[in-house]
Amino acid sequence: MRESWQERFAETPDVLIAQRRERTLVPVRDFAIGGDEFVTMAGPCSVETERQLMATAEHVARSGARVLRGGAFKPRTSPYAFHGLGLDGLKLLAKAREATGLAIVTEAMSECDVAMVAECADILQIGSRSMENYSLLEAAARCGRPILLKRGMVATIGDFLKSAQFILENGNPHVMLCERGIRTFETAMRNTFDAAGIALLKQISHLPVIADPSHAAGYRDLVPALARIGVAAGADGLIVEVHPDPDHAWSDGEQSLNFAEYDAMMLNIAPWIALRERGRDRRHAAEARALEAVGCH
Ligand code: PEP
Ligand code: MN
Repeated sequence: MRESWQERFAETPDVLIAQRRERTLVPVRDFAIGGDEFVTMAGPCSVETERQLMATAEHVARSGARVLRGGAFKPRTSPYAFHGLGLDGLKLLAKAREATGLAIVTEAMSECDVAMVAECADILQIGSRSMENYSLLEAAARCGRPILLKRGMVATIGDFLKSAQFILENGNPHVMLCERGIRTFETAMRNTFDAAGIALLKQISHLPVIADPSHAAGYRDLVPALARIGVAAGADGLIVEVHPDPDHAWSDGEQSLNFAEYDAMMLNIAPWIALRERGRDRRHAAEARALEAVGCH
């Protein structure tokens, strides 16, 4: 007999669905992630200017996003690329939250910056390149904010779960697992989107799962299809890059959607989100019937 998923991932027991363990709901401002609502996080790769950020925030808020994304501290592979506005970027994010009511997700790259980032962020992002930076994970776990943990680009599902377990172990139960594509032999796309990974994480873990079609695809024309696949695979939400003028973005322009493309994508995935909700209602009804049958109400 093949070993069960529970046996396979026995090193990370706290992130696994155990019998009767409820799914984790991550509270963010006045809503929750991991429950009934499908949550969209959208915004630029990097915070660039007040004009760029405000225009994007206002647009994505009008189009149903709950969370504004935007990097103030940017992990860039090239030392000569734009590395973010730092504290000034955080101040602009706080201003955008004030103006729109959107929650903020933004990355901390170093444990020294966690307190400063956590002051502005409603959700602290741990980037793909930092998934195994354990001093950063420990500081992030202790900052009191929910964590969006991005999968390392060369991390297996087992490695990913270990980093999540590490955060839980350090006292923070509010972890979201973000699939953002992994490196494979395929180079046509920036990364390979692991849809099976999303399905598996939903099956074995009680933590919310977020799909990032932008970093997985690397090209904007592929982003809507990967977003749709993410919803269909069972993700609880999306994080997607949107920019008023992607061709002139200071980072990740090639994979960023402009406002019209973002709206078209949201319209395109709406039926899949509705299907997900109908599936959930059917599941709840089946669970209630099963409980009734054994005499529990
Ligand atoms: C980002 O969200 O802009 C980012 C740098 O993502 P990742 O860590 O997944 O590369
Ligand atoms: Mn990016």
